[in-house]
Amino acid sequence: MPVAKAREYIRAFLAPVTAVERLHIRAALGRVLAEDVLSTANVPAHDNSAMDGYAARFAVLASDAEVTLQVIGTSFAGRPFEGHVEAGQAVRIMTGGVMPAGCDTVVMQERAKAADDRVSIPGGQQKGQNVRYAGDDIKRNQAVFKRGQIVRPAELGMIASLGVGEVSVYRKLRVAFFSTGDELVPIGGSLGPGQIYDSNRYTLYGMLARLGVEIIDMGVIRDDPAAIEAAFTASAQAADAVITSGGVSVGEADFVKQLLAKLGDVLFWKIAMKPGRPLAYGKIGAAHFFGLPGNPVSAMVTFYQFVREALLVLMGVPEPQPLPVLKAVSTSAIKKAPGRTEFQRGILSRDSNGDWTVRVTGDQSSGILSSMSQANCFIILPDAQGNTPAGCTVDVQLLEGLI
Ligand code: AMP
Ligand code: MG
Repeated sequence: MPVAKAREYIRAFLAPVTAVERLHIRAALGRVLAEDVLSTANVPAHDNSAMDGYAARFAVLASDAEVTLQVIGTSFAGRPFEGHVEAGQAVRIMTGGVMPAGCDTVVMQERAKAADDRVSIPGGQQKGQNVRYAGDDIKRNQAVFKRGQIVRPAELGMIASLGVGEVSVYRKLRVAFFSTGDELVPIGGSLGPGQIYDSNRYTLYGMLARLGVEIIDMGVIRDDPAAIEAAFTASAQAADAVITSGGVSVGEADFVKQLLAKLGDVLFWKIAMKPGRPLAYGKIGAAHFFGLPGNPVSAMVTFYQFVREALLVLMGVPEPQPLPVLKAVSTSAIKKAPGRTEFQRGILSRDSNGDWTVRVTGDQSSGILSSMSQANCFIILPDAQGNTPAGCTVDVQLLEGLI
């Protein structure tokens, strides 16, 4: 199953949450708007100055010669000039000060010579310079944000600039997850022979917390049909989405397959990718199920390549932006087998010319979690590509801010 096809397949089944709550805008940070936000006014509400200086009429400044005007008042931010400005007059104005009636142009103070109540302005001014117009940022009745917009710091500020204090957002998506494996010990326990600590539940916790979903941690579950069945059933009842790690690789999948055939409708894929070949997706009751591979790097890669965008759609974002991809020159030779998409861990940096270069982190085995910690990007090598010598341009997908 090619990566893109698996993504499309999953996409076809995703129905976003519908329940809505009204929140103070601060509490809405990271949430998804459930309604369009309309502006009831222009922002800014008035034409105003972009500079500290003098407001005047361009008609009297139009000549190339210096002009001397009488300064008849001030317009400070929040304290407008009330009168009307005639030809031959000017108003001292500060950044954000409302443009006085009769003025259309601001001369920055560095270009003016003030003495007593007069100001001299040289020629060469432009009509309308240094003026910010009403509605420049947002026009009255404009749909400022559409339903499905994630509220980030800039959106908080824009909503506040409209004077709006509360918004409707979708309820938080509930995501349950558990790790499977007889070898896994939760942190705090002591390791017996052949056992390892469960790390996937922590990377998953971190990735889900960054998405802002409600997290339901179901713990470590033994490779025991009854225990796994109970965990699936409880998770699917409690959550909109269920994520597991481990138990979907060849050799392990058989009893999980039988179990999920009984509980729901799940497909087990061998994705043409590395790392992350085994992946399961389907429905258990109303819940979406993502069965990630157990190898720690594979679990993270499949989360970012399939689960992250799917969860965003379920959260109410209709067209989630994929993680940014850019081109960079690889300074390392990259080993790669054709026939699958590889997501190698890379370190992106700028060279002395200011150009982006990337190198692989070293051992690319799917158990080497430190490769994810060192990386700030995936180097994405498409199916057809084989070994890639140093100096080639490759696609890199940024992970900065995600991991
Ligand atoms: P599996 O997909 O269950 O066959 O697991 C593949 C590999 O990942 C094995 O080496 C497991 O021990 C390891 N693994 C599975 N689950 C976890 C986990 N939660 N934390 C760390 N390693 C894991
Ligand atoms: Mg296992």
